[in-house]
Amino acid sequence: MSKRGNITDLFVIGGGVNGCAIARDAAGRGFSVFLAEMGDLASGTSSAATKLIHGGLRYLEYYEFRLVHEALAEREVLWAMAPHLIRPLRFVLPHHKGLRPAWLLRTGLFLYDHLGGRRLLPPTRTLDLRRDPLGRPLKEGYARAFEYSDCWVDDARLVTLLARDAADRGAAIQTRTRVTAASRDDGVWTIRLEDVETGLRGTVRARLVVNAAGPWVDTVLREAMGQAEANHVRLVKGSHIVVRKLYEHDRAYFFQNEDGRIIFAIPYERDFTLIGTTDEEFAGDPHGVAISDAERDYLLAAATEYFERPVTAADIVWSYAGVRPLFNDHKSKAQEATRDYVLTREGDAATGALVNVFGGKLTTHRRLAEAALSHVEAVLGARGKPWTKTSKLPGGEFGPTEFEVQVERLNALYPSLADRFLRRLARQYGTRAALLLGEAQQLRDLGEGFGADLTRREVDYLVANEWARTAEDILWRRTKLGLRVGADDTARLAAYLAGRRTGAKP
Ligand code: FAD
Repeated sequence: MSKRGNITDLFVIGGGVNGCAIARDAAGRGFSVFLAEMGDLASGTSSAATKLIHGGLRYLEYYEFRLVHEALAEREVLWAMAPHLIRPLRFVLPHHKGLRPAWLLRTGLFLYDHLGGRRLLPPTRTLDLRRDPLGRPLKEGYARAFEYSDCWVDDARLVTLLARDAADRGAAIQTRTRVTAASRDDGVWTIRLEDVETGLRGTVRARLVVNAAGPWVDTVLREAMGQAEANHVRLVKGSHIVVRKLYEHDRAYFFQNEDGRIIFAIPYERDFTLIGTTDEEFAGDPHGVAISDAERDYLLAAATEYFERPVTAADIVWSYAGVRPLFNDHKSKAQEATRDYVLTREGDAATGALVNVFGGKLTTHRRLAEAALSHVEAVLGARGKPWTKTSKLPGGEFGPTEFEVQVERLNALYPSLADRFLRRLARQYGTRAALLLGEAQQLRDLGEGFGADLTRREVDYLVANEWARTAEDILWRRTKLGLRVGADDTARLAAYLAGRRTGAKP
């Protein structure tokens, strides 16, 4: 670490995908880094996405060629970087009479196939839904469809592993820590922090601040930095519903709606289907944002337009909502606002510099971090070369097509543990699953159970290695076992974690 005195090179505000990616890239280049996140890692927008690593077929309609090109090329880069968290996914896009004509879809998909370097992902093909089994879950009227490739990611785990890797490279990552004020004097920032659990306060000094606060980026500028007029992002809410599995195969559907929008229906957590998303202008504090009745009804109706069996409110087992922090380009409709990111820099080494992050998708986080590092190096001087393109995230030290080999290896090592359990661990922890399991042979060797297949060993691992503190961190962000664990087990887990924090025996 290159700390000069007790002044950190880089202070990052926000532990979402962008803040963690910037912290990781910077730490890997040899900068000293401090990241503060006011909640849990990924507790903002970065756990509320549709979770696609995608070029964004729809963005072609808005001529976002730069973004689509960059995003398409990132698919295989990120898949190789985290082959446990990211996997290829095929999308079935039915042609809907009266909506976009087939030639337009075909042209878009031709561009999609050829714009970004695609080596492993299979190309687009045309389907006859009347004969192909992929047409079975759909209503009879749909005849033709296109099937194309993108990738899927566990968004919250991506953020956590970016943070883990940043910390392994020397970054200080502090969660439940809010930045309350930041001011600069003589080229050095003084950043005031508050521990949101204890109220304890402290300060950190840094040469450069990166404001990666997502939907709160303007709030930070206004409230912590005194820029009263800051108004750079447009907040656009998006919600999802999770329903009991609607079909058996492993493809996702891409449905066009009459209003010009689109929704996805995606296989989710083995027993469920994820449906989303909406686009609604949002005002206020994005904390605790939730799906509205109108959004729920919209998603149910949009899915029912295509699926043979109506999708109803009774099918819903969970929902979540998030707020996109889109760069405010003054377009009229929420769905038309640019999805591209914009970085700005104010100040220099003599005054203390600030880099603001506006927008940015999960898919482009690595490229956004490289762009942010160009600003950092323009101020602090170059330290190391860009290095993340061929890097691995913790646990991802295997080839992109070798996930099943990992599962087989775990099955061979732990023949008495269920394949389903080992598969889950392989997805979440990759090569580190064996580290977590250690010498265990039976599930009971992993200690007290907290419902589903969650054990004390895994909980302790998440607390020790992944900044997990509460039951919600574990059940809804480090894992998605919240879909399977009941209220009593959740309460027991919460009590165990509370006891662990105070040192008391649960
Ligand atoms: P955030 O994840 O919100 O992180 C900012 C963090 O800053 C928060 O955790 C917050 O707690 C913290 N913070 C704020 N103020 C302070 C403070 N004062 N002190 C300390 N910490 C602070 N992208 C894709 O690539 N694919 C998709 O399929 C996709 N689908 C999406 C669907 C929806 C509905 C939405 C909403 C977004 C989707 N996105 C998708 C976009 C993507 O999720 C976001 O652009 C991305 O997660 C933004 O990350 P971020 O780090 O900028 O913001």
